[in-house]
Amino acid sequence: SGHILLPLLFFSFTTLLKAHHSQGPGHILCLFINNQWQDAASGKTFPTINPATGEVICQIAEADEADVDKAVKVARDAFRLGSPWRRMDASHRGLLLYRLADAIERDAAYLAELETLDNGKPYAVSYTVDLPNVVKFVVVFRYYAGWADKWEGKTIPIDGDYFCYTRHEPIGVCGQIIPWNFPLLMQAWKLGPALATGNTVVMKVAEQTPLTALYVASLIKEVGFPEGVVNILAGMGPSAGAAIARHMDVDKVAFTGSTEVGHLIQQASGSSNLKKVTLELGGKSPNIILSDANMEDAVEQSHFALFFNQGQCCCAGSRTYVQADIYDEFVERSVERAKRRVVGNPFDLKTEQGPQVDQEQFNKILGYISSGKREGAKLMCGGGVAADRGYFIQPTVFGDVEDNMTIAREEIFGPVMQILKFKTLEEVVTRANDTKYGLAAAVFTKDIDKANYVSNGLRAGTIWINCYDVFGAQAPFGGYKASGNGRELGEYGLDNYTEIKTVITRNKPFI
Ligand code: NAP
Ligand code: MG
Repeated sequence: SGHILLPLLFFSFTTLLKAHHSQGPGHILCLFINNQWQDAASGKTFPTINPATGEVICQIAEADEADVDKAVKVARDAFRLGSPWRRMDASHRGLLLYRLADAIERDAAYLAELETLDNGKPYAVSYTVDLPNVVKFVVVFRYYAGWADKWEGKTIPIDGDYFCYTRHEPIGVCGQIIPWNFPLLMQAWKLGPALATGNTVVMKVAEQTPLTALYVASLIKEVGFPEGVVNILAGMGPSAGAAIARHMDVDKVAFTGSTEVGHLIQQASGSSNLKKVTLELGGKSPNIILSDANMEDAVEQSHFALFFNQGQCCCAGSRTYVQADIYDEFVERSVERAKRRVVGNPFDLKTEQGPQVDQEQFNKILGYISSGKREGAKLMCGGGVAADRGYFIQPTVFGDVEDNMTIAREEIFGPVMQILKFKTLEEVVTRANDTKYGLAAAVFTKDIDKANYVSNGLRAGTIWINCYDVFGAQAPFGGYKASGNGRELGEYGLDNYTEIKTVITRNKPFI
């Protein structure tokens, strides 16, 4: 229970702070550059907040452009021809990733505590979902560790007396900018393929959730990655993040976050050095319930699709389309389920829903709830603040939602469910595709022909049939349209960290 965990947490947190050269009474967590803990060049710090209480956890060194420059320089040096990292056998890169996975697994309970403290997600979820996602279920580090010495080029039979082959080479210095909704998971999705393929990394973690990433930095050093290969900075998007995006010596940037910032990242590439860009952005994913679906299952899965992680999922099923003949029963049961959702102290193991990540998101979500009411959607339950401190919001369900309402068009990123009614399959596919986004979608039905019709017709990167939020390290994930560029995970995920070099050798013909 929370009572057992908290003293442990306090103890281990103090240890963490020590490990990070904490200085003086302020306890400052530093930046990780060149395998060393460093203060920001400016000396600036910012507080990281526990969203369950609104209290400051500790101060973090705040990177800006000068620190990004420093990190890019050491990452470039670690990438120079003949460096330890460039000369390292591919199998040994894999071994380092396996060792990192082992170290994360060893410290899994502690990392889960840190994640809950900093992000507010229920401990039961950080421990059983996020961490096994990092080291077991999604197996991201181990999966990519295995790829390190298996990412093979080709020999190609071109015309003439030539021998042609391709080499899969690392791109170089990769900037990686990650969000706060799944801090450990997003770090693993980014580091795994970048390191397996031999790149070096300058990562900026989200300002709201720097703690676990900085702890993983200490493990990166512990398991023996050479200096400068991985650099982890905490700082603000418009300063540190933008400095990475426009840097002339960063070869590639991978970003996960809002579509709005995705535009800025792509523009910064266009106006600097045309660095390669991969983007994993927002969504407004349709979840389609046909009248022949198993009702109980569809209600539970649709609840999970929206409310999981406090609704803070890029692929949340945030437009629940329900066929007319089962609409009333589905709404009634979904409301009943939402009312049963346990909101509270994220360290309590019974808790299903913790606080939203920060005041800004909290305010934004409450604003969307007001707009839903104002624009005529029917508030079926929730709609308000759920506690007198921290950023807790009641599980909220809107019925009678229309396609043109703001809550049906924009990403809310909170525990707010939109239920819409439809009649025919053709109609729902057209309506589901009428969005700038295309990240994910789902369909619930027992009819395989209907499932195929819908899944083939939807313009989205992932389609779930009779399930939701199922991921595998082996399966690619990413968006159509404004939901992004490129794919993460799986073999496809390697492409975005690889330059293909074609080598052609003249074969002198002898008789
Ligand atoms: P965001 O601003 O896009 O944050 C994502 C990352 O980008 C953070 O590390 C952020 O730094 C950084 N960033 C911000 N502005 C930047 C810039 N100009 N240049 C480079 N990097 C920059 O997202 P947010 O403000 O946290 O959340 C806003 C909305 O984005 C949410 O309501 C949600 O709709 C969406 N979102 C989507 C995802 C996803 O998984 N696709 C994740 C999070 C949020 P800071 O730490 O300073 O913000
Ligand atoms: Mg932001």
